[in-house]
Amino acid sequence: MKSILITGCNRGIGLELVKQLVFHKNAPPFILATVRQPEKAKELNDLAQKNRNVHILKIDLKDLNAYKEFSNDVSNILGGEGLNVLINNAGISAKFTRLNLVKAEQLQEHFLVNTIAPLMLTKALMPLIKKAAASNSSVPPSVSRGVIVNMSSILGSIASNTTGGLYPYRTSKSALNAATRSIGVEVKDDGIIAISLHPGWVKTDMGGSNAPLTVEQSVSDIIKTLFSLEAKHNGQFIQHDGKDLPW
Ligand code: NDP
Repeated sequence: MKSILITGCNRGIGLELVKQLVFHKNAPPFILATVRQPEKAKELNDLAQKNRNVHILKIDLKDLNAYKEFSNDVSNILGGEGLNVLINNAGISAKFTRLNLVKAEQLQEHFLVNTIAPLMLTKALMPLIKKAAASNSSVPPSVSRGVIVNMSSILGSIASNTTGGLYPYRTSKSALNAATRSIGVEVKDDGIIAISLHPGWVKTDMGGSNAPLTVEQSVSDIIKTLFSLEAKHNGQFIQHDGKDLPW
């Protein structure tokens, strides 16, 4: 893997992915990390200062009109080469909502950030991902070619939903899962893998302090799983440690 782009890197799982990839034995020469406010991303800035392969890109993913210019910036950083891996990590989660409390505005915001943004960003970056996959056509589908990871959640699994509620989060992640499957079908012949990935219930601002997994453990598993991806994973829903999940 020469290049990876991860969204939502100023805290939580996104920041930890950058931290661990920098020290990985196969650290990619290009780690592109997006944030909304670079000036406030202190830890990420420190990492970028010490590691020249870390590039910080500013984008608010709600601003869909910015994606074209963003993909040009990515292409410039990569110096004409393609992008191997896209991790659509940024996401939002409202507090617990029951049917009598759910608001249309909440649903719209969750669909924008959790579903529309990852799908449209994948669309905008697809020429670069296809370029990377095509220029490494001698190797089987893997991170050395092209991979799209949509950070989903077990809460987006319709089959596993026994507790209800959480309409904005659940429905936006279920829709993201549907998008993953469609992307997988469309990119299969290009040697690209698209998956939905549940990171586990993780101690971050979103996961809260009762979560059983530390962010270090979840991300260590995610990176192992990422490097082990092969053609059979395309279009699948898996968790941090590679285990299959029901849709
Ligand atoms: P955090 O709440 O800790 O971090 C969320 C990240 O997303 C932040 O970097 C945030 O940036 C970014 N983000 C949110 N909205 C936007 C936006 N409009 N534009 C750009 N960036 C944005 O979450 P986690 O790290 O815990 O979660 C990462 C992913 O994993 C999410 O997709 C989440 O749904 C998923 N997940 C997490 C679980 C958990 O237990 N933690 C469980 C299952 C799934 P900013 O700081 O600027 O707000």
